[in-house]
Amino acid sequence: MTSAPPNSNPTSKPPIVLSAPSGTGKPSLLTRLFAAHPQTFGFSISHTTRQPRSGETPGVDYHFVSPETFESLIAQGAFIEYTRFSGNYYGTSIEAVKAVAEGARVRVDIEMEGVKQVKRTDLGAKYVFLKPPSLEELRARLEGRGTETEESLGRRLERARVELEFAEVPGVHDKIIVNDDLDRAYEELEGYILGAIS
Ligand code: ADP
Ligand code: 5GP
Repeated sequence: MTSAPPNSNPTSKPPIVLSAPSGTGKPSLLTRLFAAHPQTFGFSISHTTRQPRSGETPGVDYHFVSPETFESLIAQGAFIEYTRFSGNYYGTSIEAVKAVAEGARVRVDIEMEGVKQVKRTDLGAKYVFLKPPSLEELRARLEGRGTETEESLGRRLERARVELEFAEVPGVHDKIIVNDDLDRAYEELEGYILGAIS
């Protein structure tokens, strides 16, 4: 449903694109990576039309906007990629990538449709997929997080099935890491990313 501009690289260094089914535990791993390497990475702050969750800060976790504002940004060509996920829009703007401090490595956290679009650009990104140990464990983590209704939980699990299938396609990701044990997964992630950007 969406198309990305083919030449949209506002940054001098190839970004790291991270994707994971919702509930896999991306923030748990990435907060740690950021804390350990504060100068190295800058996070591209996405726009979304979903409501903020408790603990989320507008302009830090996301730019929370109305559907009208999001659609007007689409019309202006503001996004490198965007999609609809679980009833809401999500997108990475050119400005969000530009806003990352000079010299830092841009980190973009997106789902599968966004990955497909970024692959059509000239960003030259590295793609890392974080995988839950199983769909049963994913359900348990999403339930444990306490943020979803039964309906949105079902939608996220259904989408996770599709994302896990897509991740099996050879060559889609440069690295796949299973978030089974947090410490083990963190070491693998840190090792890969630091190696990939050096
Ligand atoms: P995401 O943002 O990827 O949707 P969250 O970071 O909200 O996922 O994680 C979902 C839940 O899973 C959280 O409650 C988190 O504490 C838990 N979690 C994350 N990593 C692990 C892990 N390796 N083992 C067990 N639980 C985890
Ligand atoms: P959540 O609502 O749990 O924060 O995010 C839902 C999904 O949307 C996650 O898989 C997350 O990585 C993805 N997502 C967040 N921002 C963007 C974005 O800018 N573009 C795309 N394509 N996906 C995003």
